Amino acid sequence: MSEVAPTPIPKSGYGTPALSVAEARARILSDVTPVRGVEKLALRSALGRVLARDAISPINVPAHTNSAVDGYALASDDLPSAGEKEFRVVGTAWAGRPFAGRVGHGECVRIMTGAPMPVGTDTAVMQELVRQRDDTVAIRSGQSARENVRAAGEDLAQGQLALPAGKRLAPAELGLLASLGLSEVPVFRKLRVAFFSTGDELRSIGEPLGEGEIYDSNRYTLFGMLTRLGAEVLDMGVVRDQREAVRRAFSDAAANADAVITSGGVSVGEADYVKETLDTLGQVGFWQIAMRPGRPLAFGRVGNAAFFGLPGNPVAVMVTFYQFLQPALRHMMGESDVDVPVTFHARCTSRFNTRPGRTDFLRGILERDANGELAVRSTGGQGSGILSSMSRANCFVILPPESSDVEPGMLVEVQPFDGIV
Ligand code: AMP
Ligand code: MG
Repeated sequence: MSEVAPTPIPKSGYGTPALSVAEARARILSDVTPVRGVEKLALRSALGRVLARDAISPINVPAHTNSAVDGYALASDDLPSAGEKEFRVVGTAWAGRPFAGRVGHGECVRIMTGAPMPVGTDTAVMQELVRQRDDTVAIRSGQSARENVRAAGEDLAQGQLALPAGKRLAPAELGLLASLGLSEVPVFRKLRVAFFSTGDELRSIGEPLGEGEIYDSNRYTLFGMLTRLGAEVLDMGVVRDQREAVRRAFSDAAANADAVITSGGVSVGEADYVKETLDTLGQVGFWQIAMRPGRPLAFGRVGNAAFFGLPGNPVAVMVTFYQFLQPALRHMMGESDVDVPVTFHARCTSRFNTRPGRTDFLRGILERDANGELAVRSTGGQGSGILSSMSRANCFVILPPESSDVEPGMLVEVQPFDGIV
């Protein structure tokens, strides 16, 4: 249900050369379009949503020039240039209860953190640095002019862009919008994503397993990944390998969602059946991507929905989701910064096997070694059906196409699974 008229998708069949991971990602990203619908939400409900309009600061934050410490406020040109000087304490300024008078020569005000700087003062001296006597304090030379003072508007000035449209609202953004006094924010509507699994061998949990059958786990990893991304999910279950069932599932999904995701049925030998349906209902390219796992991927449109046909292997589903769908769906959600998560280098402490020609996304455990340096080791078996490797791992180890086997001690590129929030 994307609101923009579809343009044709270039098709690539099994005979065409494989796309690199970067090419495939760029093609997908350039083809998907953000939702347009906007809703106003109470600030708390907007957590995880994408801001739909620039947020302009209606006020200065902080609103007043104030003290960053508990101490004494005075005029900097009154500070002693040598020795010590006595100041008369003429009152107290509290956060939320300013000192009303003016501070004159030889005077100071006892001031608390966050209290507005009284008229006539521009410097706060920390209380630890003064000597108190009855109603005077002695301040030594060596204090800097204007120290420990937070200027009005130094965080955000009135009229300044506080947050740009397209920013996903994390805890810091909620706090920031609250600091501006904004109680409601315009966010893009939720992206609706429908998904189903294909395969006669698949059973849903709760059903008994027959001979040669397996439980469908892809719908659960997809549910988890999509929910965490903030999508509205529509789980359409398992679809049998029957022409009518497949056709109905595709058209139902496309009619009810902005994006449709399937798993299984896109490898050579299987694709014809799904391909036939997709050829009549949409514009879908069946891609070979030079990566492992996740080589076959179908991408295009069914009706007005973006379509992603993922391979069936459980690890391949997760790898292709994180490398291609996550940035694409975030773009569709209206987010402007959809770069794939950071990667960096770490020394490996175990062997990683590869064959040249494809980018490998292996599962690794990133930890600190005895010297406190980052080190990464393999989770063990790296088959694309071994879902437990994703659970044991906390990062991908990415080996570029030209890489050969990696021996302990070598540097490899890692991509951690989790950020700080
Ligand atoms: P396919 O891409 O359909 O050839 O499937 C590749 C492998 O993944 C096969 O071993 C399938 O049984 C398995 N598979 C496919 N779909 C699922 C699923 N939804 N959950 C778990 N395994 C699956
Ligand atoms: Mg299959």
